[in-house]
Amino acid sequence: MPSNIEQKIEQLREELRVHNYNYYVLDNPTISDYEFDVKLKELEILEEENPHLFDPNSPTQRVGGQITKNFETVVHKNRMYSLDNSYSKEDLLDWEKRIQKLLGTDDINYTCELKYDGASINLTYEDSKLVRAVTRGDGFQGDDVTTNIKTIKSVPLILNEKNIDSFEIRGEIILPLDGFKKMNEERIEAGEDPYSNPRNTASGSLKLQDSAEVARRPLDCLLYHVVSDKNIKPTHFETLEYARKLGFKIPKAIEVCNSIEEVFDFIEKWNTKRFELPYETDGIVVKVNSLEQQDELGYTAKSPRWAIAYKFKAAQGSTVLNEITYQVGRTGAITPVANLEPVQLAGTIVKRASLHNADQIEKLDIRVGDTVFVEKGGEIIPKIVGVDLSKRPLNSIPTEYITRCPDCDTLLVRNEGDAKHYCPNEYGCPTQITGRIQHYISRKAMDIDGLGAETIELLFKEGLIHNYADLYELKEDQIIPLERMAEKSAQNIVLGIQKSKEIPFEKVLFALGIRYVGETVAKKLAKHFKSIDNLLNATFEQLISVDEIGDKIAESVINFSNNLVNIQLIERLKSYGVQLEISEKDLQHLTNILQGKTFVVSGVFTEFSRNDLKKSIEDNGGKVASSISKKTDYLVAGDKMGPSKRTKAESLGVPIISEIEYLKMIS
Ligand code: AMP
Ligand code: ZN
Repeated sequence: MPSNIEQKIEQLREELRVHNYNYYVLDNPTISDYEFDVKLKELEILEEENPHLFDPNSPTQRVGGQITKNFETVVHKNRMYSLDNSYSKEDLLDWEKRIQKLLGTDDINYTCELKYDGASINLTYEDSKLVRAVTRGDGFQGDDVTTNIKTIKSVPLILNEKNIDSFEIRGEIILPLDGFKKMNEERIEAGEDPYSNPRNTASGSLKLQDSAEVARRPLDCLLYHVVSDKNIKPTHFETLEYARKLGFKIPKAIEVCNSIEEVFDFIEKWNTKRFELPYETDGIVVKVNSLEQQDELGYTAKSPRWAIAYKFKAAQGSTVLNEITYQVGRTGAITPVANLEPVQLAGTIVKRASLHNADQIEKLDIRVGDTVFVEKGGEIIPKIVGVDLSKRPLNSIPTEYITRCPDCDTLLVRNEGDAKHYCPNEYGCPTQITGRIQHYISRKAMDIDGLGAETIELLFKEGLIHNYADLYELKEDQIIPLERMAEKSAQNIVLGIQKSKEIPFEKVLFALGIRYVGETVAKKLAKHFKSIDNLLNATFEQLISVDEIGDKIAESVINFSNNLVNIQLIERLKSYGVQLEISEKDLQHLTNILQGKTFVVSGVFTEFSRNDLKKSIEDNGGKVASSISKKTDYLVAGDKMGPSKRTKAESLGVPIISEIEYLKMIS
């Protein structure tokens, strides 16, 4: 009975919506992750079987998957202003005086909020549903990033209260610190440069073309301003409380202050307490609480008169630099680390600081024995921002950056454009050798069960492996005698290695550890070149002609293929049966026939499942969108397609084709 199914789907959507809210906004889950996944899966299947009941705001839509090549520019209905900044109590007192004069009263209350350090976003709801999310852009117009924002679990797709005609709210998309740290650990493991800070990573995430990639990032959304022509509540504070009830994540650290002195107390309190927060803040924002007074004060050309930001000073301390040590990465990159006399900074004890590279040491003339200024601006690793020259010991000598690798003693190189020095001894430097094999076996690469980083080190130390191809020659009886090994673990290792021969080419390509060829790039290259031979024979021009492949990646691939050692390794991998080309099955379908064409798929099909049809469109170079617009080239209509889709396609003149007609297009 279709109506029963419809009810079931609706019920699951509502249930999942509430659990999602409990988990991501209230931080108070009432069911286990497993139970949640089971329900989500159930809904996915029902929706798949009943495509006419598709809903863009269903909890299933949060996994992303849509690709946006160009984000549409949208003019803001209400301009998104910046904030005036202040840096001292005097600045704030000046501001207070100005607004008292304008309002003709000193009866003013303030709300104090933290200034969340991320990327601003404007969310529009119609009929209680999220319809649009737009970046700030230049304040007048921004980019429509709705598909990406929908993947952020704390952004409600449907409000807790039904029948809210229209609602607009602003907030900040942030990347919490632990999530940022985890992302960077993964990047370092993949041989990619770590992201520099959570803010840039958050704002970069909004403009990613692949929404599934956004879904994987642990982004969060904190709201701070309801936009409305007529004031919903008399004060800003009450309006935010109301928004919280609707399902938005409004941080608890908001306070109403009855005087500017109370504002100072708030600043004092959060100046250090902010380091306990799971995300970065760069100041506080003071706002006039009464919305009537806000309206009266209005705006300057740049910012509201009723609000002002107070920027925190970064927590600074000074301490003695005991030693500079150098770390070697998997790609041979050298990172200097400052080992400090422990110092208390913003509530934590700091012992090490990043020195980044040789330039920074030289620029600041940092020397061992110096008293240095250490700053913790909310970043995870504190940095050295200067030297207290008055305390420099008389016998101090300038730092000479190491010239040889601390690991293998090879002369370091630094090529033009490189921020860091590198150890060029790719195939002899122990850290690089084990690092490369560790990367090869890692979960996102060959995912070899039974093997871990420590085992790789052990096997290398024992002289059993020197590169990843050697893994395939390992015998159980070579492993059994090793420390902490037994028959069972040896068996598992060999079995795991053999099983890795089934891993598809795109992952193998990533596993090879070519510099700058991360997971996504590997996928692109695999799809385009289809085999390792094609890739390694490609010219620079051919490489950069691939979407999103730039000079840096192209050069790195060419360097890799010019190295005989690599070619030999790859020949060996081939001989063991590792997948070094896209399999026959995948190959049959790949063309570029549909390049530049956008499809919307709706209804139930007989020749394909809906997902297979979408995949087929993409495999042939086309793009799949979820809703019909002027940019849609074809609507592929199956059985039971929703009538509204048909009407919309007809009104926009979008051709409606059957799956048979589609098959003819690609044959
Ligand atoms: P600025 O970019 O320095 O002009 O600062 C203005 C920006 O601060 C706004 O566009 C917001 O994105 C951001 N912001 C962060 N937290 C808040 C908050 N609690 N209230 C208002 N704006 C905030
Ligand atoms: Zn080395």
